Amino acid sequence: MDVDVIVVGAGPAGLMVAGDLARAGVSCAVLERKPERSGLSRAFAVHARTLEELDARGVADELIATGTPAPEMRLFGGAVLDLSRLPSRFAFVLVTPQYETERVLEDRARSLGADIRYGQEVTGVTQQPDGVAVDIAGAGHVRARYVVGSDGIHSIVRHSLGIPFPGKAVVQSLMLAEVQLSKQPPDLLTMKTSGDAFAFIAPFGDGWYRVIAWNRRNQVAESDPVSLKEVSDTARRAFGVDYGMHDPRWMSRFHSEERQAPRYRDGRVLLAGDAAHVHSPVGGMGMNTGIQDSANLGWKLAATVAGRAPNAILKSYETERHPVGRQVLRASGALLRVGLTGPPPLVAAAGLLAPAAARLPFIADRMAGTISGLSICYPAPAGSHPLTGKRVPDWPLADGRRVYEALRAGRFLLASSSALAADVADGYAGQVDTVAISDEAIPPGDGEGSPEIIALIRPDAYIAAVISRGDSPLPLPSRPREGTASPWEAATWPADQQRLAIRAVLARWCGSA
Ligand SMILES: Cc1cc2nc3c(=O)[nH]c(=O)nc-3n(C[C@H](O)[C@H](O)[C@H](O)COP(=O)(O)OP(=O)(O)OC[C@H]3O[C@@H](n4cnc5c(N)ncnc54)[C@H](O)[C@@H]3O)c2cc1C
Repeated sequence: MDVDVIVVGAGPAGLMVAGDLARAGVSCAVLERKPERSGLSRAFAVHARTLEELDARGVADELIATGTPAPEMRLFGGAVLDLSRLPSRFAFVLVTPQYETERVLEDRARSLGADIRYGQEVTGVTQQPDGVAVDIAGAGHVRARYVVGSDGIHSIVRHSLGIPFPGKAVVQSLMLAEVQLSKQPPDLLTMKTSGDAFAFIAPFGDGWYRVIAWNRRNQVAESDPVSLKEVSDTARRAFGVDYGMHDPRWMSRFHSEERQAPRYRDGRVLLAGDAAHVHSPVGGMGMNTGIQDSANLGWKLAATVAGRAPNAILKSYETERHPVGRQVLRASGALLRVGLTGPPPLVAAAGLLAPAAARLPFIADRMAGTISGLSICYPAPAGSHPLTGKRVPDWPLADGRRVYEALRAGRFLLASSSALAADVADGYAGQVDTVAISDEAIPPGDGEGSPEIIALIRPDAYIAAVISRGDSPLPLPSRPREGTASPWEAATWPADQQRLAIRAVLARWCGSA
């Protein structure tokens, strides 16, 4: 075998998984057909959950320094989504061009030892009993134990395996432009639909703005060049003003599709990012979903390559991520339809329902949770503790670090609010780090004894299992709203049973010691 894993495509999804594989000591080559990294901005929104995943890899602050944090998003009908209430260190959406995200991910992957090769076009993949052969245009083939197809919407990996990509084009003739403005829009992220026109403007923070514009009365072939006049006319129809757009550096016309592969895995080949799902850019969830696919896949594939993962672990990539992809398709589709056509007549007649909805805490929190990715959670076995499958809050640790800092080693964390028996993780050295949750995170109990929690946290910052004791809830979000914290099971665990339970959980997630 030439290498453990070949990643096809050096977009955000491929670079993220390559970095995680390299961090885990897996030999990994990324094959990218372009001669060098693209300078196109493409996706410009990095949401809170992606920033948390980057924080767990030590590169969030570097990326944040390249862009503009926006604490709110303006949606259809004048509704404003307040992200500043998100229960995260990153209570905003970061506006930064995709090439910055790719640069940060590529630098990280290279520094960890990933071999990133530009100018290598993959023309097909073939499954073999013990690996996968990957054909490269003009360069024969290389063999790997596993392949990740992160080669975008027209994925050759997906085609080679005969995995269908059902769905449809949902909107034609969307115009994208990067321009300068002589007048600053009133909001950081500005979006409006008026009559037949829709427009959106976001600043990159360096004087350039991304404009997305669509005019129902101007549906032309995708190959037709875009003029600045078309873009500014459409912006004027939507906003009533074009903010003095001038000096475009890039303009393009494209159509948006909604598609999802019915399966993300075929034998030793896995799909991630746009190769597995595509949807409208409204809500800015495409790149984010791909990066999070990779955060889910990397540690599972690394553990499988190392021969220590139970079979179910790699299978769980599809079980966990396929429903997330479907949900993102639905959410971005709904936002697109309302964004382009305005709210349905009855809703409009009811008068400003959208702004009101965005003000209702429950609805606003659900919308913010979906768009930011913070509400994503994975299936938990029946009877599990309510935190199981959810993202881990950034608990302070007794050693002065935060949970997301402790995750940077790429291992499981066994985080406990009480002293654990010294031998509880014996046999899992190199896979599991044991840390103590700081007392600050734990309010005093109402009844006898202090509340206790022992949480097994996965390398992708989701909670694998929880054992809790006590009668008081630990606040889940960093800024809990009254009455929203989940109740804890009031369970009493003798120390020996607790140890057995932890060992059983470790065996399920990390294999036998
Ligand atoms: C013009 C444009 C504007 C967009 N705007 C937005 C936006 O505003 N908001 C948003 O959320 N999303 C937007 N997107 C979508 C966003 O860019 C994608 O969701 C994101 O790039 C997906 O990342 P990925 O890594 O899965 O795939 P990609 O970024 O597509 O990366 C795939 C990589 O694989 C390489 N590749 C393909 N085939 C082969 C092959 N045979 N051999 C080797 N390499 C190969 C490609 O060159 C590419 O580098 C936009 C996309 C486009 C095209």
